[in-house]
Amino acid sequence: MEEFTSEFVDKIALTCIGVYANIPKIGKPAAEEWNVLSCIVQLDTVTQNYEVVSLGTGSKCIGATKMSPEGIKLNDSHAEVFARRGFMLYIYKNIEKAMMSMSPRETIFIKENGQFRLRDNIEFVFYSSQMPCGDASIIPKSNDSDYGNILTSRKREAEGNNDEIESKILKNDIDDIHRTGAKCLPHNEQDPKGPGAKYHLLGQVRTKPGLGDRTLSVSCSDKIARWIHVGIQGALLDMLLTEPIYIKHFIFGGGVPYSKESLIRAFLNRNGKQQITVPVTPHIYQTTAIFHHIKSEQRPRPAPGSVLLVKFG
Ligand SMILES: [Zn+2]
Repeated sequence: MEEFTSEFVDKIALTCIGVYANIPKIGKPAAEEWNVLSCIVQLDTVTQNYEVVSLGTGSKCIGATKMSPEGIKLNDSHAEVFARRGFMLYIYKNIEKAMMSMSPRETIFIKENGQFRLRDNIEFVFYSSQMPCGDASIIPKSNDSDYGNILTSRKREAEGNNDEIESKILKNDIDDIHRTGAKCLPHNEQDPKGPGAKYHLLGQVRTKPGLGDRTLSVSCSDKIARWIHVGIQGALLDMLLTEPIYIKHFIFGGGVPYSKESLIRAFLNRNGKQQITVPVTPHIYQTTAIFHHIKSEQRPRPAPGSVLLVKFG
């Protein structure tokens, strides 16, 4: 699993943004609204050809009291989760095709003892226009490049005084941090909400912010961490596949706060402890390509709509 060059990272991100630009306006943000774009891209490692197989946008999540008892409303409409839903449809469609034909042109799977195995030359790349909500979005506003050192010194300090709260928040030599609206789980330790860098606890599982009441959906940082550890396919597809599907490359957007260290913390080693072994350690990149509907002074409000585009043909 080779690391991409920065040129290839930008090429893939620009393709994702280009596919979005070419879809109709329905569901896209109005002039003063922002949105998040996430895509899952299929790469043929032999030919280096790639294509967007699922695209999702969205930034909304319904609160616990608005959930449907009949299960007829989508709870989590964040772009990352939408793109995954579309990707699962794509996988089901490919399994269906593999049951009828084994041609590599028809399907990405090979039928094997009643289950389906992904062809060796197929890899998946995840692109998102900004950092996922939750733990990965807690980033120092200054000294981004020193973040690794800050975590190390914080860990040393924690070993010395064994102060658990102190060990989970950023040192106050950072002026301020980018915050997340996602809250710590109700039964867990809560954010101290102190000034600047002492606002958040690090490495926590969080629930997404909702309109008014609390949601029951965990943050995208937590969901992506799960994909990395047990595969993106979910329990039902897992029964049909010979092995889980792991995303091998994660690309995050340009022009927005970014920290590779906070992504590694959120995805791989919560709380700065030793990295947990994962079946496939993904490569993580930031592209220089900027999605044109990111949050900005001109686009201060989150868009209410979502778009989902899936490759079926
Ligand atoms: Zn999210």
